[in-house]
Amino acid sequence: MTDTLAPGTAADVATTASRAFRDALEVIESVEPRIAAATRAELTDQRASLKLIASENYASPAVLLTMGSWFSDKYAEGTVGHRFYAGCQNVDTVEALAAEHARELFGAEYAYAQPHSGIDANLVAFWSILAHRVEAPELAEHGVKNVNDLSEDHWEVLRKKFGEQRMLGMSLDAGGHLTHGFRPNISGKMFHQRSYGTDPETQLLDYDEVARVAREFKPLVLIAGYSAYPRRVNFAKMAEIAAEVGATFMVDMAHFAGLVAGKVFTGDEDPVPHADLVTTTTHKSLRGPRGGLVLSKEAYAADVDRGCPMVLGGPLAHVMAAKAVALAEARTAEFRAYAQRVADNAQTLAEGLQRRGVKLVTGGTDNHLVLLDVSGFGLTGRQGESALLDAGIVTNRNAVPNDPNGAWYTSGVRIGTPALTTRGFGAAEFDTVAELIVNVLKQTTPTTTASGAPGKAKYTLAPGVAEATKAAAAELLDANPLYPGLEL
Ligand code: PLP
Repeated sequence: MTDTLAPGTAADVATTASRAFRDALEVIESVEPRIAAATRAELTDQRASLKLIASENYASPAVLLTMGSWFSDKYAEGTVGHRFYAGCQNVDTVEALAAEHARELFGAEYAYAQPHSGIDANLVAFWSILAHRVEAPELAEHGVKNVNDLSEDHWEVLRKKFGEQRMLGMSLDAGGHLTHGFRPNISGKMFHQRSYGTDPETQLLDYDEVARVAREFKPLVLIAGYSAYPRRVNFAKMAEIAAEVGATFMVDMAHFAGLVAGKVFTGDEDPVPHADLVTTTTHKSLRGPRGGLVLSKEAYAADVDRGCPMVLGGPLAHVMAAKAVALAEARTAEFRAYAQRVADNAQTLAEGLQRRGVKLVTGGTDNHLVLLDVSGFGLTGRQGESALLDAGIVTNRNAVPNDPNGAWYTSGVRIGTPALTTRGFGAAEFDTVAELIVNVLKQTTPTTTASGAPGKAKYTLAPGVAEATKAAAAELLDANPLYPGLEL
């Protein structure tokens, strides 16, 4: 059964939404018909694909429609009630409401609704930690209130101190994210980084090892959170480690915020009571518009509020409005039921894959994603991803711990349940999905190189498999339509 508030809405809401989208597309068509056509085509494609990308979802018509307004035209740098622009009273209403919903939903002391994305939310958090832990003590030492009042010599000392700070986060191949101190992201240039991996046998997070590295490295920031780790994390334990070494504890819950909001992760598995700062995206399991949020303890609030213009451009008021709508949805019993189904479906998917002989990283899942090790099929992650896509199954390749194929070709395929659960998929459908995936992987053969060894990119899919898989997937998709009743 599809949710009532999310894409599958009551019939009258679907009719109204159909009219709204149809009218909007007509207006767009009168100016640039190719954009209207591409927008229509995107809905057709999304409706027809088995979307298993763990970081994607389908926002409700209410969330999508909220973004198409004149709030987009308003500049509002600053914070609620303290703007650098005149006429921000309605933006104030929107931002205050988004923050209030976020605080109440997550039980956070402070919420900042401005970040444009997850990366931006992390940047705000990193600068807040530097401001709180490095800049503020330096200003206090020199008896000045504002960084602009530091002498050039003292400013030079402060700049040097910024560059000396350390961050400890999860390694990329264990499931960490680029923004947790890795070179391709600015965080890897702002901080000296060390990472913690997972146990070589169990592939589970080894808290003793995290503590050992933390004691040795003494980071300013201990960061937890992941993009591809299929397990829950004990944030109470991580907070203890951070406290022992004097680190600020930050959690990036971009992936699993929906499970926190939906009260699937509670107690030690809920990061909000345990971390100094928590960042998230709003568009993955949380099912809102593309965007980010920072939640923090009160002690960090003033520093977080400096996000714009420190590292963010002017707030996107139309997206903050959509965040408020999505957070209001996430506070309902329907959303809690949805979040539980996301986790239950991941279990079913994992069991269905394992029963059919697939090796899963960590031997299973207890969150919203599974990570298949496709090396048992003689494939790289890239070949697995491409063959599945040929058969209409949209996933993405991902490194597995100590991946012999590196971060580009990889040995893993990451699969998540949030999007198809929104469409209404349950246990039976996810078991069929497991069967389809295994069938495609079994019938994919890597193309050999000139020396006769299996290559890393090319492959052949046995004749007829793509067509048969697409036909089977279409049955599932037709029975669980995306935006039922929405007609353009
Ligand atoms: N943090 C984590 C853990 C993520 O998985 C992602 C996105 O994949 C991000 C941050 C970045 O989010 P965004 O793409 O919105 O910047």
